[in-house]
Amino acid sequence: MTPIKYNLENIKKNIPSNVKLVAVSKTKPEADIIEAYNCGQIIFGENRIQELQQKKQNINLPIQWHMIGNLQSNKIKYISEFITLIQSVSSFKLLTDINNEAKKINRIIPCLLQIHIAKEETKSGFLESELLNLLEKNNLQEFKNIRIDGLMGIATFTNDTRQVEKEFKSLNALFNKLKSEYLNNTNFTELSMGMSNDYMIAIEQGSTMVRIGSSIFGDRVYS
Ligand SMILES: *Cc1c(COP(=O)(O)O)cnc(C)c1O
Repeated sequence: MTPIKYNLENIKKNIPSNVKLVAVSKTKPEADIIEAYNCGQIIFGENRIQELQQKKQNINLPIQWHMIGNLQSNKIKYISEFITLIQSVSSFKLLTDINNEAKKINRIIPCLLQIHIAKEETKSGFLESELLNLLEKNNLQEFKNIRIDGLMGIATFTNDTRQVEKEFKSLNALFNKLKSEYLNNTNFTELSMGMSNDYMIAIEQGSTMVRIGSSIFGDRVYS
């Protein structure tokens, strides 16, 4: 396996300086996170609350933690104090529940709305039509303890680059539509798209934030 430092340097060569890099450290040991941090990596993404909470507790470094995985309402409280960005807000109920938890601790929690762009049914997120319907009725201003910073999407896992490109293009179009018609506040700026296999395509299609795991830390082994 190539060293983390080398992988990080390689990726940084490929991404413009205005695109944020989230190092996705799920399933990886704390030593890997510390190693990446020592190479200058600040933002880390995790997809399980318990693992995220444990790593946050054990690693005493000024890391910016992003939640990128499916979120259960009853677990929001475990990350609400420290989470920098929740990227995986995929329902009105989650908006409500995150807002309530944030209110309890007097915080405004930055969030991204996750949009379902892939062909796979298993992936979660708002359907575009569902979100537009919601915003027609409700501009989300009631959620005083949430700041909506942008959108996140996961493309179909496929070698068909045209399909992936099409999905990222549609997410970018939705982002621009929301920005001009519904969420025209200054904070709505992030378009989180692109992973190890497709981040170059995502950047071409306007990504401002890529989430990269295996190309930094090596393949994940699930037990
Ligand atoms: C695991 C994961 C990633 C990173 O995937 P890689 O293919 O390892 O880069 C990015 N985004 C989300 C939401 C993930 O769950």
